[in-house]
Amino acid sequence: MWVMKVGGGCLRDVEAVRQLPMVLQAAYPEARRLLVVSAFGKTTNRLVALAESAARADLSAAHRVFGEIQAFHREMVEGLFPFPTAEALWKRLEEKYWQGLWQRVQALAHLGEADGAATDAILVYGELLSSEIVAAYLSGQGFPLEWIDARRLLVTDGAYPEPEVLLGPSQANVDAQLVPLFRTHRLVITQGYIASDLRRRSVTLGREGSDYSAALFAQLLNAQGMIAWKDVGRLYSADPRTYPDAQPLPELSYAQAAEMTYYGAQVLHPRTLKPLRDARIPLYILSYFEPEAEGSLIAEKWVDPLPPIRATRKGLLLIEVESVDLSPLSLGELLQGLEAEGIEVYFAQGGRRTAALAVQGPQDSLERWRTTLPAGWEVQLRQPVTLSTVLYPSENFPLPNGEALYLQRLPDRIHWLTYEI
Ligand code: ASP
Ligand code: MG
Repeated sequence: MWVMKVGGGCLRDVEAVRQLPMVLQAAYPEARRLLVVSAFGKTTNRLVALAESAARADLSAAHRVFGEIQAFHREMVEGLFPFPTAEALWKRLEEKYWQGLWQRVQALAHLGEADGAATDAILVYGELLSSEIVAAYLSGQGFPLEWIDARRLLVTDGAYPEPEVLLGPSQANVDAQLVPLFRTHRLVITQGYIASDLRRRSVTLGREGSDYSAALFAQLLNAQGMIAWKDVGRLYSADPRTYPDAQPLPELSYAQAAEMTYYGAQVLHPRTLKPLRDARIPLYILSYFEPEAEGSLIAEKWVDPLPPIRATRKGLLLIEVESVDLSPLSLGELLQGLEAEGIEVYFAQGGRRTAALAVQGPQDSLERWRTTLPAGWEVQLRQPVTLSTVLYPSENFPLPNGEALYLQRLPDRIHWLTYEI
């Protein structure tokens, strides 16, 4: 069993979707495979805009965005299928999805305010539509397959915007509903990013969450491996668009890859690696547009040496704390308090009198955290900052120049913070 994931950046237009049969031929065509797809191109961004207009009760703006989303999908369908087939498929999509999507837009407009569950009820349509169109296309290209709604499989606690997946109930669903499909078919298609809560309401797993879905399915199916087909089909020591001398990384351990993504490398959703590590499932990152090209493997083996790896994480909030009454600061206490509020800390540096932290978390949690601090500790919130990280720096790795607000040099890494302009 293999789990394969194809993202929206790969499925961005008709030409790109036409590449899919070749990609499927290139990897384990005889094996049983679960194909996990994301929404086409930038559809999720548009659905977010649609939900925002609805939450403002601006139905005319919502109608315009809805029209754009429909036109984009219509173009896909007309480009992929001959006329009568395209019409029949469009009619089916109309009944099964477009009507329901517009109803949910109206429901949110009626509510007239931002609401997590009502927004997610809209966002899930991107993956439902893309997977349905891809399934129809691949069937027409001679791939017998089954399609299944991922919301029937992955169950979460419904927390917004990043719910916890409940492995017990999800496993039961996978065993009862997904595994039997493989008795008659070698290929099954489902959606990334979407799931349900215990009350069977739609939820999403956080932006760019399809990698994470695929990893969960790999774990639940006890797959031999997972393949993430990507636009940029391998890992690099830095973003090659910014650093032309970035070096390809043929192999990394789970922990090494997790660290890279944690500090901001955009290659994978950060939650992807845990399910794979837990089940010891190797992850291959391969090029969607050049499926035979060499990619990257993430598995158990610690790789040493590695070239210096650069990652940047933007949009963090800088918190500076100062003890004004000379009571000693405790970095541990600060960190514990932030953790208790569910605030993620990416950088922490401190002494007896001052500390600096770069964090990400909801405003109200931060406000709550502030109220728990001793009166003599003064807090300044400054934003936004970028955290730059170099993992495995060479001894003479050049340190950043004067613009760094804070700099931390550890044996195996360098971190620094800069203001964003
Ligand atoms: N379509 C979703 C998003 O754009 C999930 C994904 O692409 O992985 O966030
Ligand atoms: Mg996407």
